[in-house]
Amino acid sequence: MKGDPVPTSVAIVKGRNGKDLNEVRKMMGKLFDLIGPAEKIIPRGCRVLIKPNLTAEEKLWEKGILTGPIFMQALVEEVQKAGPAEVIIAEATAVGLNTKKAFAANGYEEVARATGARLLDLYDGEFEEIKTPEGGLLKSVRVSREVLRADFFINAPVPKTHFASTLTAAMKNLKGTTTYDEKKRFHYLGLNKAFTELNAVLKPHLNVLDGLIAMEGDGPIAGTPVGLNALMAGTDTVAVDTIAARVMGIDPAEVLSLCLAQGMGLGVWDEKEIKVLGNPIQEVRRPFVRACAPLEMDVEKVRFLNGQACNACPNGLRIALGRLQAAGISLEKLPKMEISVGPEARLSGSADCIQIPIGNCQKQYKHLPNYVPGCPPPAFLMGDEIREIMGIPRRFGPKKNFIME
Ligand code: SF4
Repeated sequence: MKGDPVPTSVAIVKGRNGKDLNEVRKMMGKLFDLIGPAEKIIPRGCRVLIKPNLTAEEKLWEKGILTGPIFMQALVEEVQKAGPAEVIIAEATAVGLNTKKAFAANGYEEVARATGARLLDLYDGEFEEIKTPEGGLLKSVRVSREVLRADFFINAPVPKTHFASTLTAAMKNLKGTTTYDEKKRFHYLGLNKAFTELNAVLKPHLNVLDGLIAMEGDGPIAGTPVGLNALMAGTDTVAVDTIAARVMGIDPAEVLSLCLAQGMGLGVWDEKEIKVLGNPIQEVRRPFVRACAPLEMDVEKVRFLNGQACNACPNGLRIALGRLQAAGISLEKLPKMEISVGPEARLSGSADCIQIPIGNCQKQYKHLPNYVPGCPPPAFLMGDEIREIMGIPRRFGPKKNFIME
């Protein structure tokens, strides 16, 4: 297939040791042979921008949380074969975090020195407002001007299971091209629909997935690393996520963003129309544990009311409680409380307990002081609400900063 790009093809290359730069270079070379090669698909002399997933300030790439530096070095070197004027590695990390710290902690400064690529914190630049599909949630979205003006934009996420979106791979990674406020708004309005709408107006020229170390379980940051030792690539973001789901043993029909993309006519989701190049799915497939363990509230004083919630709010709450415990906060010290999720949950109204309605499905309780908005609310926002109730300082600032009404 060398030199014969198929618009809806997704290439997969399986290796053995994703921590060996020389092996990853060879894998990347094979991957680009299947989809390109680089000299053919990337115009000479152009400005290439690569957007990894760097959503932590600590060194966490070996845990499968972030796009790794070995992958990134091999990708930049492959792109440089096309003779670009410049290669930029750019990110606008998660709310409350610092992109430069994420670069520094995860070996990106060394990658920049070794390759001559430039690191760019997108928050230092301008953002442009672009219209999203009519009748949708967002109406418009502010996206980095650097991304919009790149001659060739490569989306380079790490595939993971995710408590709110089943999986996170190419489609969701585009959220990291927006402002802090947009990221909050996505969670506030409805995360999956919001980032799917972003995908309708922002289309990378190429998606290259770092499946060297992926993540299963409580993703995006509390799961277990999976040494998948695989790379995947394709031009169609929806097709890439569809194949990534299959590789992870997830039926694409379980992934809300892929269902929404289908409804919106975005990309190629029909597997019959996607040609898999390189290693067949069955050679790489490794079923991932989902982020959907049951929420067990074994704290006597807490009543958990679930009224037909989807998985995301209970999952987020479970992750939030786990993070509090990991921070040394004993849940035994929680006051008497009721936590409600889902459209059918009804609080007792009892005056002798604190009530925490969680998620937009509980909007009828938005007048209550401990209401946590979002669909789903970010786990850190749920955690901060519980911290505040326990008299512990919030980690991510006042709740009013996250309420977009
Ligand atoms: S607010 Fe409702 S629909 Fe949204 S994530 Fe929570 S339970 Fe699901």
